Amino acid sequence: MRYFSTRDRSESCSFSAAALRGLAPDGGLYIPERIPEYSAAVRNSLQSMSFMEIAYETIRPYVHENMNDGVLQDLIESAYPFTAPAVPVDSRFVLELFHGPTAAFKDFGARFMARAFSYFRRGEDKTLHILVATSGDTGGAVADGFFGVEGISVSVLYPRGRVSPLQERQIAGLGGNIHAIAVDGSFDDCQRLVKEAFSDNDLRKRIALSSANSINVSRLIPQAVYYTAAAGKLAAGNSDKDLPASPRSSSAACPPEDVSRNSAKSGPVLFCVPSGNFGNLTAGLYAREMGAPIRGFIAATNINRTVPEYLEKGVYEPRESIATISNAMDVGAPSNFERMKTQWSYERMSQLIKGCWIDDSETRKTIQDVKNNYSYILDPHGAVAWSAVDRLVSKAELDNSPVAVLATAHPAKFSETVEPVCGPVPVPESLASVMKRKVQSHRIPADRDALYSVLPL
Ligand SMILES: *Cc1c(COP(=O)(O)O)cnc(C)c1O
Repeated sequence: MRYFSTRDRSESCSFSAAALRGLAPDGGLYIPERIPEYSAAVRNSLQSMSFMEIAYETIRPYVHENMNDGVLQDLIESAYPFTAPAVPVDSRFVLELFHGPTAAFKDFGARFMARAFSYFRRGEDKTLHILVATSGDTGGAVADGFFGVEGISVSVLYPRGRVSPLQERQIAGLGGNIHAIAVDGSFDDCQRLVKEAFSDNDLRKRIALSSANSINVSRLIPQAVYYTAAAGKLAAGNSDKDLPASPRSSSAACPPEDVSRNSAKSGPVLFCVPSGNFGNLTAGLYAREMGAPIRGFIAATNINRTVPEYLEKGVYEPRESIATISNAMDVGAPSNFERMKTQWSYERMSQLIKGCWIDDSETRKTIQDVKNNYSYILDPHGAVAWSAVDRLVSKAELDNSPVAVLATAHPAKFSETVEPVCGPVPVPESLASVMKRKVQSHRIPADRDALYSVLPL
């Protein structure tokens, strides 16, 4: 498989080059030359395959020229000691993507990427510098994924005061090869600084530089795995049981009436994806093209509604981002849109994706209602998605397909928003220990020289 820049199809590179470079030299994002398809044998047995088997079948065609099958197998086993259960809640499913170490879905991409980088850099003696901008959860997942990985140094830029105390400790509490940089500005400022560093040829001559944002193709591809795994199960009328860290507000596990209400549904699945930079949704599109039984998607955003408006009007107007309670989605100019637009026409996108945006007061009300009615606790991002489904149901825009809402973070990660509206949230083990860490970060204004002065070069 060869990879091209979204801006230029004349030059291609391998997966490892695309992954290590992050952004293409012309400023575009890497995309595969085509999206491979699952074999019929795989498509027909998805419902009985394990998460790791599906991960292997999904990722292999994208990477096999650079990574032999045994290496890929080991890498997947080490990256995914957790899974993504699809549990019934009322008459839909919640796809819980927060059972990894940082309790957010970005663990799926970041853990694969860190291991792939480390493999591709084996035998090199020059340190690889990774520069990443985060609106909250990326930083934690990337920091955790790369912490202690030899030969790699990571600098995480985050908007000061706009991430939660827990997120800040996940980013800035590790130390070692992880450097935290608190920028006085928005996520878009952080992203701009990273882009500026990448387009600085002098800097790139001096050091080996790479990115770890959701623009990185090695993070994107593994995110297709949980769509296929969930779609395979749900399309066949199956679902999963709660795990110990599933956020039910009482000790009662999933009520039997929710299981039976949902088991009547089968066939291709509609996924509702709470979106910011649109890496997650793009990965869903890949899973669908590969042949997973997916009906389509709902792109749910907070008030940063650039993509829902594009889907509605056909005009793309990026904006400044606005701060909300679902802060990992505060993105006014989503970078993965460039991939979507290059790979799918407007007509195709509007057939496959319905857009919907939800404001903060509706998000809070949804957290409260879902807790009161179903004893299930959503985080603000998952609540945006749940609420988007409600909206489309009320407009009679949904048919009888199984609907899965992606819960992208554990509610305990956003307890300062969730607890005031629905009371105490059980805290998973992994998060309890993070709160004890001390924040160590460099504070800088949003300009390039300030950034260079704190990079560990
Ligand atoms: C990053 C993030 C999102 C947005 O995902 P994108 O791939 O950027 O669209 C949604 N929810 C949570 C909790 C996140 O961390």
